[in-house]
Amino acid sequence: MTDRVVAALQALVRIPTVSDRDPARVDTGAFDRLLVELATCFPLLHERLELTRVGTHGLLFHWAGASAERPVVLMAHLDVVPVDTGAPWRHDPFGGEVHASDVGPAVWGRGTLDDKGCVAAICEAVESLLEAGHEPAQDVWLSFGCDEEVSGTAAIEAVGVLRDRGVTPWLVLDEGGAIAGGAFPGVKAPLGVIGVTEKGTTSLELVAEGRGGHASTPARNGPTARIARAILRIEKSPFPASAPAPTLELMRRLAPHVPLPLRPFLGRADRLAPVVTRALLAAGPEAAAMTRTTVAATTLSGSPALNVIASTAKAGLNIRVMVGDTVAGVVEHIRKAVDDDSIRIDVVESGEPSPVSPMDEAFELVEGCIGEVFPDAVATPYVMMAATDSRHFTAISDHVYRFAPFRMTKAQREAIHSYDEHLGVADLVDGARWYRLLIERLPA
Ligand SMILES: [Zn+2]
Repeated sequence: MTDRVVAALQALVRIPTVSDRDPARVDTGAFDRLLVELATCFPLLHERLELTRVGTHGLLFHWAGASAERPVVLMAHLDVVPVDTGAPWRHDPFGGEVHASDVGPAVWGRGTLDDKGCVAAICEAVESLLEAGHEPAQDVWLSFGCDEEVSGTAAIEAVGVLRDRGVTPWLVLDEGGAIAGGAFPGVKAPLGVIGVTEKGTTSLELVAEGRGGHASTPARNGPTARIARAILRIEKSPFPASAPAPTLELMRRLAPHVPLPLRPFLGRADRLAPVVTRALLAAGPEAAAMTRTTVAATTLSGSPALNVIASTAKAGLNIRVMVGDTVAGVVEHIRKAVDDDSIRIDVVESGEPSPVSPMDEAFELVEGCIGEVFPDAVATPYVMMAATDSRHFTAISDHVYRFAPFRMTKAQREAIHSYDEHLGVADLVDGARWYRLLIERLPA
């Protein structure tokens, strides 16, 4: 098991399947090679499971189980983000080499954590179960997207296929949380964080128009000044904060592991929601983002020349919509904050937050497998800040969870989409073992 899953991850990392919003810039040959490589590494899986192709290179496998009553979808994605050639990688990002690391021998390279490690571990779990002659108690679907990093459509297509076939997943599991070390100051135990919801990603553009003209004769209150004022007003009107239920549950589960003076406080987190919310707001931007919708002014444009007054000025706003808020409500909040009828608000991209998946039987299965393979970890629900392909699956399932069964240190988590991404060899093997256990434990 060890050799095959490690060799598979190395082989997958060596093929630079970088996705791009512009299809013309995608090396489709690399994706072709990746699919061939996957079939070479896991022959039984490819022989026995029924395959439906989705998108350009997305894969949807169906492994028929004893029952189709409670189907399960295991997700991952085959594409990766590009490598910044100026970044100081210690090892070739597309070398897939095994070298020493802070977590012991590790496979290094782009995609080891995000998300080819999951692809390799899921396939290894299935391949080894097929070898053992195992029949899953329930139908198992594997959904591997090819354009997750560019918010592509392969996952939407996979959802369409499942819907057409009348499949209502009992459990959907995608990347997201992990066995996170050093996640909480003062807590030694790693947290097994399971995303039960994710924020929605929405982008707005503020547009101000005016006469423009020669910079030697400026008029007051031109487009640029109005955009600047609008941005400042938005910054002064943050969205109301309130810690959502999964965050309060995280606090409660953390209570036995925090330094003694904090224990009673966190243990009663659900009754002290306003206090918890204030504490999170005070704890810095990362913690504050757990309590409310956030707005970041990102792109700016105005005059094309130093001596020209802009006739149009624009500001882009990237907004992460919190569970409980809606895109319509967000636009209304921004309109009120800006308080300027001359500024147009265009919705460029609209994404609602995902519904909160319940902590019932399906969650408990995930939790139980964490307890078995990672006995030192504290399993807990949480709200994910980033977006995953699994958000599309909320259209056909109430039980969508985001968790990759890998130990990740803080440094490893920071390497995702950055440089020096690496996954411990022993952690990869544990991950494959975790997926295998999950499949073995599917309820009859
Ligand atoms: Zn990812």
